[in-house]
Amino acid sequence: MKISDILKRGVFSISFEFFPPKSEEGEKQLLETVRKLEPLRPTFVSVTYGAGGSTRDRTKEIVKKIHEETDINVMAHLTCIAHTRQELLDILNDYRKIGIENILALRGDVPRDKPHWRPPEGACRYAKELVQLIRENFGDAFSVGVASYPEAHPESPNLQWEVKFFKEKVEAGADFSITQMFFINEHYYRFVEMCQREGINIPIIPGIMPITNFKQIKKFASLCGATIPQSLVEKMEKLSDKPEEVKKLGIEFAINQCLDLIENKVPGLHFYTLNKSDATLKIYEAIKDKLPRRGL
Ligand SMILES: Cc1cc2nc3c(=O)[nH]c(=O)nc-3n(C[C@H](O)[C@H](O)[C@H](O)COP(=O)(O)OP(=O)(O)OC[C@H]3O[C@@H](n4cnc5c(N)ncnc54)[C@H](O)[C@@H]3O)c2cc1C
Repeated sequence: MKISDILKRGVFSISFEFFPPKSEEGEKQLLETVRKLEPLRPTFVSVTYGAGGSTRDRTKEIVKKIHEETDINVMAHLTCIAHTRQELLDILNDYRKIGIENILALRGDVPRDKPHWRPPEGACRYAKELVQLIRENFGDAFSVGVASYPEAHPESPNLQWEVKFFKEKVEAGADFSITQMFFINEHYYRFVEMCQREGINIPIIPGIMPITNFKQIKKFASLCGATIPQSLVEKMEKLSDKPEEVKKLGIEFAINQCLDLIENKVPGLHFYTLNKSDATLKIYEAIKDKLPRRGL
């Protein structure tokens, strides 16, 4: 089912993001996680894609497995920077053939460790061009999501710039957006307000990253420019030798963050699960009575 059609019905979206595991053991663990999260009736789950095309087959395999072996709606992430347009069309055609109707259209990142790396001739340079490619070749066959950045993408000089190019992606045909992780809801509210002022009306679903391992999430956050509140950093640092306490605090923080977002009428919540179910299940349990109409 297309995510855009579900969102148009005013359904509050709950979704989970996974990455394609590298090993058979990892895949087994992921499928267990999917099974544990399935009873939460997610609106969709999504599977990430390696920007260099490195996970091309693994992403497709996992997407196919979830699509065929569960009742869950799946969205495949697709990054354009390292592919020719023909390769992108081939991947999209493969997804159509297996019945996938949802794509998160992304640019991806230029590999950091390859300073002389250049995109292939005629590649899509920005996510907007991938959205255009999808619409030109597949019309409305796919529901298309795009990324957005409440604290601006690290390459954007400011938020005005961010909103300007986000608007171009929406005008190219994006149906909805999922945000980069953020830990201070005011950043999200400010971003949404700026988008609305620019006439952007697609649902902007907040991306929630529960802090279960502070060192790891601090690194992710610094790479993508997400600010962790100083008060939380201080509390986390005091607990550095108590991983269970860190996890407890991280989950508690995410619960409060989600409750505030729900109260402020967000269109849904997208959880970055890191392929584990534990934190997401606990958060869901704590917020489920406050969720607006799920209607699935
Ligand atoms: C929800 C979510 C899921 C993600 N999933 C993946 C994944 O599966 N795999 C992966 O590799 N990465 C993923 N990413 C990370 C993403 O690929 C990177 O953040 C990447 O650097 C930007 O991708 P984008 O699609 O946002 O790019 P774009 O929308 O193309 O924007 C990239 C930068 O270019 C600027 N820009 C856009 N158009 C123009 C223009 N015409 N001229 C000048 N500047 C312009 C933008 O303002 C921004 O600063 C994800 C991010 C999010 C938020």
